[in-house]
Amino acid sequence: MSEIPNIVIPENLKPKDLRFGSGPSKIRATQLAALVASNPSYLGTSHRQKTVKDVVKSLREGLHSLFKLPDGYEVILGNGGTTAFWDAAIFCLIKESGQFLSFGEFSNKFAQGAKSAPFLKNIDIIKSEPGDAPDYVPNPSFDIYATAHNETSTGVMKEVKRPTKDGLHLIDATSAAGGAMVDPKEFDAYYFGPQKSFGSDGGLFVALLSPEAISRIEEVKKTNRWQPPFLDLTITLENSRLNQTYNTPALATIHMFENQVSWFNENGGLTWSSNKSKTSAEFLYSWAESRDFAKPFVEKKELRSSVVATIDFIDSIDALQISAILRANGIVDTDSYRKIGKNQIRVGVFPSVELSDVEALTNCLDYIVEKL
Ligand SMILES: *Cc1c(COP(=O)(O)O)cnc(C)c1O
Repeated sequence: MSEIPNIVIPENLKPKDLRFGSGPSKIRATQLAALVASNPSYLGTSHRQKTVKDVVKSLREGLHSLFKLPDGYEVILGNGGTTAFWDAAIFCLIKESGQFLSFGEFSNKFAQGAKSAPFLKNIDIIKSEPGDAPDYVPNPSFDIYATAHNETSTGVMKEVKRPTKDGLHLIDATSAAGGAMVDPKEFDAYYFGPQKSFGSDGGLFVALLSPEAISRIEEVKKTNRWQPPFLDLTITLENSRLNQTYNTPALATIHMFENQVSWFNENGGLTWSSNKSKTSAEFLYSWAESRDFAKPFVEKKELRSSVVATIDFIDSIDALQISAILRANGIVDTDSYRKIGKNQIRVGVFPSVELSDVEALTNCLDYIVEKL
C-alpha cells in the first residue's frame, strides 16, 4: 500500500456507529446495557447453577423458534467456536466419506481438515474461484455433504439446498445464521458462532441438529473410533440438554447472544433480521453499481451475500488505502479478507448494522474518492 493521504472526513458525514467488521462485528449498546444490568447476579457466578442455565435455556429455545425448527431438531452448544465444531464434525458426524464445496478460506478449511483425518477415506472437494460457488455432484458413496451458507472471505452466499435425500447436509452458517433465510428441512447441521449476525463475542459454537444428525452421532459413537472428549458430540448433546456446556463457557458471550436472539424474535424473527441485512447489502451493491470507480465483486446477483458485501474498486484506486483512510477516521474493519488479495473492501452488514449508517458509509466513500 502506498502512503495514506491525510483525509479528514467531516463529522456530519460519518455513521453513528463506526463498526463494519465481518466478525467480531458490532455489538448493540442495548446488549451491553443488559449485561451490565445483570450485575452482580450473573457474571462471576457458576455456569452450573440456575441463573446461568436459565439464560442458556432461553437461548436454546429462542434459537429453536427463530429458525422454526421442526420437532426432533435440537440446539446444541459448546466451546471453541466454529473451528472446534469442524473437528467435532470430523470425529462425530462423518462416517467415512463426504463431498465438500470449497469457495473461500472458511469452506476450504473444513474440507482440508476432513481430508487430513486419517480415519476418513473418501473426501471429495469441489472448488471454485473466489467470487463464485460450485455445485454438488451427488453420489451414493458420500455420507455427508458440506458447504458454507455464506463464504465470509469473499461475500458469496449460496442458498441452502440438499443435493440429494441421502447423506447428511452440514452447513457452516457462521456469518449467515440470523442474517439470511434458511429452511431447516434442507440441513442436518446448521452451525455457527455468535460473533457475526448475532453481534456477540466469539468462542462458542451452536449447532442446530436434525434427528438424522443426532442418530449419526450415536451411530459413529458405537464404532471403535477414538474421539477426544472435548470434541465428542455425544457429550455436547448430553450437556446441552441440561443447558450447560462441557467446560466453562464465556458467560458474557452467552448473555449478549441471548439478548440478540430475543431482539430478533420480538421484532418479527428471521424474516425481519434477514430483511434488515438484505436491505443494507442491496443498498451497498446499488451504490457500487452507480459509481464508475466501484462495482460489486460477486458478478452473479443470486450469489451476492446479504450479510457481507464485497465491493471492488478500479485499479487507479487502492482499496487498502480506502480502508486505511476510513480507519484513520475511526470507521473500522472494512478491509478485505487478508489472504484473498483483491482490490476490494468488505463490509459487514449484519442485522445490528443500521441502514442509515450504511448510507453514511457510502457518503464517506464518495468523499474519500473525490479527495484522492
Ligand atoms: C468466522 C467464520 C468462521 C470461523 O469462526 P470461529 O468462531 O473463529 O472459529 C468459520 N466459518 C465462517 C463461514 C466464518 O464466517
